[in-house]
Amino acid sequence: MRFSEIPGLSSSKEQLIHAIKGNHVAHAQLFYGPQGSANLSLALAYATYINCKNPSDTDSCGICESCTKMDRFIHPDLQFVFPVSSTKSVTGKNVVSSSYLNEWRTFLLNNKYGSVEDWSAHYGAENKQANISKEESRNIIKSLTLKSFEAEYKVLIIWLPEYMNAFAANGILKILEEPAEKTLFLLVSCDYERLLTTILSRCQLFKVPSFTDEEIEKYLVENKNIESDKAKKIASLSEGSIRSAVEHIDSAEDDAHVMFRDWMRQCWIKDFTSLNTTNDLFNKLSKNGQKLFLQYALNMMRQALVSDYLLGEKNKLNEPEKDFAIKFGKTLSTQKLEKISEEFSRAHYHLERNANVRILFMDLSISLGRIMTAA
Ligand SMILES: [Zn+2]
Repeated sequence: MRFSEIPGLSSSKEQLIHAIKGNHVAHAQLFYGPQGSANLSLALAYATYINCKNPSDTDSCGICESCTKMDRFIHPDLQFVFPVSSTKSVTGKNVVSSSYLNEWRTFLLNNKYGSVEDWSAHYGAENKQANISKEESRNIIKSLTLKSFEAEYKVLIIWLPEYMNAFAANGILKILEEPAEKTLFLLVSCDYERLLTTILSRCQLFKVPSFTDEEIEKYLVENKNIESDKAKKIASLSEGSIRSAVEHIDSAEDDAHVMFRDWMRQCWIKDFTSLNTTNDLFNKLSKNGQKLFLQYALNMMRQALVSDYLLGEKNKLNEPEKDFAIKFGKTLSTQKLEKISEEFSRAHYHLERNANVRILFMDLSISLGRIMTAA
């Protein structure tokens, strides 16, 4: 995996490369970032870069023998440990990472931002309690006492070390502190508070930030062939996680519509309890997401204004949206629809000028309710 395959995060990438070039490579590092962040992909790109035969200032070459093997996760000096649980065919003492290597490699090809649940579903876990066992720590010690085969560094990536039980964690303390020369431990965690302090204190912490909306948008456009507008909308709902962005691909449009439809109903009947819940949802969106949602609302009003044409015309609305626009257009007068549109524009304007989001949303909801029910 190359750094260029990860969208954005230029300062994190620079920091990692800088450490390698300056010979400040800590032998145990903890890549910590929230689920759906680049914690695993940065560790992979780092391992690839450090063993590349011909790296540039910003990335591994991608074509040397080492890079080619790293790219397919088959380099003999790149080892993985990850949480596992039993399946129909793997039980007992065999429930260790090495029994799942083929599944792991196919998982990594498509899921570098996946969760432990995604992984368990991928290999067909029978038991939901995946962990990194004591048996696994014995294997780690055995394999790391061997010298590297062909690379400069032997790299062990422990994905989600928070799933190590205490026996396993204690089992690797010594080797984590004094590994053989040119051996690297890259621990990739989503929840380092669950790690034993004895593990934490032996690692250098590298914090991986969440992705920005723009970075996620770029990823969706380049990797998932999503058109830019839709990618922007999905990114705004994804809270910095590529994993949730991918999950949102199918449901993004429906989500916005359902939220909008429910909101309009709540304004109409002045259901303040539900309006508070919708206010929470709105508040959770990124700033960009809030603006896009208001733009969506404005567009729906335009559609409602021309609802008579919608019946026959081809347009970009899906069926539930079309249905809503027609009903709304038939129920409210043109004058009311125009007033509602003005309210949306006004809210969008104030949002750009950093108004308090909760107050803005509630004021807007009350105004909309008044307009809808006025004589
Ligand atoms: Zn290379």
